[in-house]
Amino acid sequence: MDCIFCKIVQGEIPAIKIFEDELNLAFLDIKPRSPGHTLAIPKKHYERLEEMPEEEAKELMGFIHKLIKVIPEAVGAKGFNLGINNGKVAGQEVMHVHFNIIPRFEGDGGSSIQGIVKLEVKEDLNSIGQKIRKFLEKEKNDKNFEREWEEFNLETQDDIKDFSEARRE
Ligand code: AMP
Ligand code: ZN
Repeated sequence: MDCIFCKIVQGEIPAIKIFEDELNLAFLDIKPRSPGHTLAIPKKHYERLEEMPEEEAKELMGFIHKLIKVIPEAVGAKGFNLGINNGKVAGQEVMHVHFNIIPRFEGDGGSSIQGIVKLEVKEDLNSIGQKIRKFLEKEKNDKNFEREWEEFNLETQDDIKDFSEARRE
């Protein structure tokens, strides 16, 4: 497969690897946005996060959890952003799932994750919530996900309090 990250996994092209386990690999981004900018990827090729089986996604998050305990400290960062560009519209250029761990420093000129999109949301939050819950119900019925979703104990009330005050803060 002509995928640059698969080639890194296979050792066909070089990378500064920092950590790996059976399923996952972490290496330094070739064009780092800050010292210690690291990519964490599943060794198996998946284009998007939602394509990964839940178990493998959990393993990847566990792997990232180990990394975030050491990377910021190692580079003297005061915090970090953890982010994924998932899909072309979200800025994904390498079509192999990868999480960015980007150490943050005082005065580094960056913004928060929320700063990456600037759409004004005019639609009522209750109706957006309802729309999403409706899709979720459909998923549950269509694919018999009942057991998988049980643990989430979703609140399905139709009317929730008006959050417009909170949103203005
Ligand atoms: P994106 O798909 O937009 O999330 O961006 C891909 C990221 O992978 C960018 O931050 C690139 O700098 C990084 N990248 C691309 N090629 C390599 C490589 N050979 N080794 C390490 N990082 C890479
Ligand atoms: Zn790949």
